[in-house]
Amino acid sequence: MTDYDSFFQAKLDHLKQQGNYRYFLSVNKSAQHFPQFYFEHEGIRRSAINFCSNDYLGMSTEEEVINKFSFILHKSGAGSGGTRNLSGNTDHHQTLEQTLSRWHHKPAALIFGGAYLANLTALQTLGRHLPELVFISDERNHASIIEGMRSAGNVKYIFRHNDMSHLREILSALPIEQPKMIVFESVYSMNGSVAPLKCIVKLANEFKALTYVDEVHAVGLYGATGAGMCEQQNISKEVDVINGTLAKAVGVVGGYIASSERLIDFVRSFGSGFIFTSALPPAVCAAATKSIQYIQHNRFVRQTVHSLVHYLRQELTEAQILYVENDSHITPIKIAGAAKCKVIADELLHTHGIYVQPVNYPTVPLGEECLRIIVTARHNRKQVNQLVKSLSIVLTKASIVKRDFLYIKGSKRNHLSVSQQ
Ligand code: PLP
Repeated sequence: MTDYDSFFQAKLDHLKQQGNYRYFLSVNKSAQHFPQFYFEHEGIRRSAINFCSNDYLGMSTEEEVINKFSFILHKSGAGSGGTRNLSGNTDHHQTLEQTLSRWHHKPAALIFGGAYLANLTALQTLGRHLPELVFISDERNHASIIEGMRSAGNVKYIFRHNDMSHLREILSALPIEQPKMIVFESVYSMNGSVAPLKCIVKLANEFKALTYVDEVHAVGLYGATGAGMCEQQNISKEVDVINGTLAKAVGVVGGYIASSERLIDFVRSFGSGFIFTSALPPAVCAAATKSIQYIQHNRFVRQTVHSLVHYLRQELTEAQILYVENDSHITPIKIAGAAKCKVIADELLHTHGIYVQPVNYPTVPLGEECLRIIVTARHNRKQVNQLVKSLSIVLTKASIVKRDFLYIKGSKRNHLSVSQQ
């Protein structure tokens, strides 16, 4: 087979036929008007409201962050010019790592180009150097976690999503002296479910397992200083490794792990995805540090998000639009079938000026396609009303009656997924 183009085309055609091809809208963001943006459609410039951004607190548009970014950008230049070990390290990188380690109540932290790379590198490095380490992974874990474990090649067990009796069953079948690591997320990005963190930590102690938690969707939104779910549940010190992003609630870019001095030094010294890649630009690090400081001291920003989520859910209930109930800020509305989901999203955008990206396989299991609605600290009630009104019209038009939704109501019953791992 040397007709490479035909091979690529056939794969792409198949993806399109299934309705899973990804289309990329130009979301031309405005720092001044976020969450409003403009896009072009058939040569006409239009504006819409973004209801799927992960810039949860609107920090990417915060003056203090922008000013810091711009100041250090002019002072230090655009790029870092090297890996951390080869001329790319600055005080800004180190200050950010210190800020992160203190924020997460951990002795040390290590930054990467993104949380994807942080997950991939940390799990790959630990697995490769400890070949007898067994990974025990939640079935809904993010692609970066799956890739990290897969590339390490260690033995892996998958437990049903948030199912503690299944986790116990797996743990108890392993010898107590077997090195093992429970890998999970605190807030699951797509269905918004929250992990039973205390229970997992308790099981880990009982069965002598390490714990690795991805807090990517929790950082900035939960806990007294916004450090995440571990802070909120007062278990930061008990979890072994915390992974987070600087690209969502922190509003900049980059990712990290926070852990013990030794584990961090180990990943820094052996992690290919840390050693052999250029360091983040100094201005990015300085802006991220500024953003974290802002988040730590401005509790009201996250309160704004939570109260708007509450309002959104009240209004959806009032309009009889069923959503997946959960304890987080992520509000999914399931619309089984990728093609149907896209038709609805297109209609919302082009007729109502509402942007909600359909979430399809493999991001979610087949049949669990959804519109994942996000309100940020920069949305207001009027915009939420507009969203609910538009959804009501579009869902009615698409003949999605309330009865269709009954089987998905309640996240605890939502365990029908096929594991992608
Ligand atoms: N972990 C989870 C749960 C995610 O949803 C994402 C990104 O969307 C990542 C990790 C990767 O984060 P980043 O965008 O910083 O690479």
